[in-house]
Amino acid sequence: MGTGIYARLGVRRVINAAGTLTRLGGSRMAPEVLAAMAEASRAYVRIEDLQVAAGRAIARATGAEAGYVTSGAAAGLLLGTAACVAGDDATLMEAMPDLSAVTRNEVVVHRAHRNSYDHAVRATGVRLVEIGGVGHPTPLPARPFDLDRAIGPRTAAVLWVEMGDPGTLGVLTLPETTAIAARHGVPVIVDAAASLPPASSLSRFVDEGASLVCFSGGKAIGGPQASGILAGRADLIRSVALQHQDMDVHPETWTWRYLMADGTLDGPPLQGIGRACKVGREEIAGLLAALERFIARDHDAELRVRQAMAAEIAGELDRALAGLPGVRVTWSDGAATWRPSVTVACEAPDGRARAIAAVNRLGDGDPVVAVGQGGLDRGAFTLSPACLEADEVGPLVAAVARAVNAEVRSG
Ligand SMILES: *Cc1c(COP(=O)(O)O)cnc(C)c1O
Repeated sequence: MGTGIYARLGVRRVINAAGTLTRLGGSRMAPEVLAAMAEASRAYVRIEDLQVAAGRAIARATGAEAGYVTSGAAAGLLLGTAACVAGDDATLMEAMPDLSAVTRNEVVVHRAHRNSYDHAVRATGVRLVEIGGVGHPTPLPARPFDLDRAIGPRTAAVLWVEMGDPGTLGVLTLPETTAIAARHGVPVIVDAAASLPPASSLSRFVDEGASLVCFSGGKAIGGPQASGILAGRADLIRSVALQHQDMDVHPETWTWRYLMADGTLDGPPLQGIGRACKVGREEIAGLLAALERFIARDHDAELRVRQAMAAEIAGELDRALAGLPGVRVTWSDGAATWRPSVTVACEAPDGRARAIAAVNRLGDGDPVVAVGQGGLDRGAFTLSPACLEADEVGPLVAAVARAVNAEVRSG
């Protein structure tokens, strides 16, 4: 399992029952992904050439005109927004993030789509303009004319986030959104970071009219943690490249000097806003190997394996906690979300405090046991099999049973 390096550093290993979380390392890379990264590091290439080749592979996988490897989905949001703001204008590229004198400095977003990752969009200097509401009726559904009227001469893009059923969220569907934006000639950026599998989602957002869509490379795709995919319109992807790559170039010898010759650019822009989220040839090669694997993998079979693991964890935990009052173990096959999970719920009146104490006890252990905390305010935590190996199930169940037992009995 390769724990030696962490032991030498004095860092406790994690049994990851929380899922493909960035702060835990995302996912495990397959041997062929690691081999591709190692092979890539042994020779030099021009990064712009490698990105063009990667873009062709991403275009094939997504049905988009073009593609690009980013350092994550969040970097894709930053770069995609920067492209929508600046287009081919080198002066605008260099002005970012000061957009005070720039006309198109707004991005329209449903209020229900606001989330902590939209900081990456705002980092370009744009102002978010919200449509739709929360409250009464709950949530206040956005109406087509809300979006239509929010788009104006200042609009650089519309941001649409894949966060769940649009009807439940009260947001316009992506096809509704892209149809309205297209009437105004405004691009739509889709954050689909964690929306894989199914593999069909690779092309779904482009099919539904997205101008750009970003995916995380380090989640279900199984690529390097610091990688991601941006796919979409060729002109926007070119703007991304110009604002992302190292531009320490001489205009007369620059690889892409044809862009000056054909009048697209006045000159090469200097280091852009995306320069701080660079990717190396290792990440590009690793992402491509992982993407190829992801497309070939049998996701239905992998789901069945994870469902069986969730059932096993739930059954063993139920036995281990038998007779403990106020604790309920349930599991869901995750057929609709591709995410089977086990829920451990501590009942009122002290459920919330006990669940929090149990989670902290798991975090204090060695190895650390990381669990899903989405239900913590209702007194529940979850166990996801997504990142577990079969031999981790036993230690996981034992640690969770110990922590819950200790907290419930101590109360
Ligand atoms: C994980 C996630 C991101 C960030 O992805 P990275 O590849 O880690 O940058 C952005 N948006 C959403 C909705 C996510 O779930």
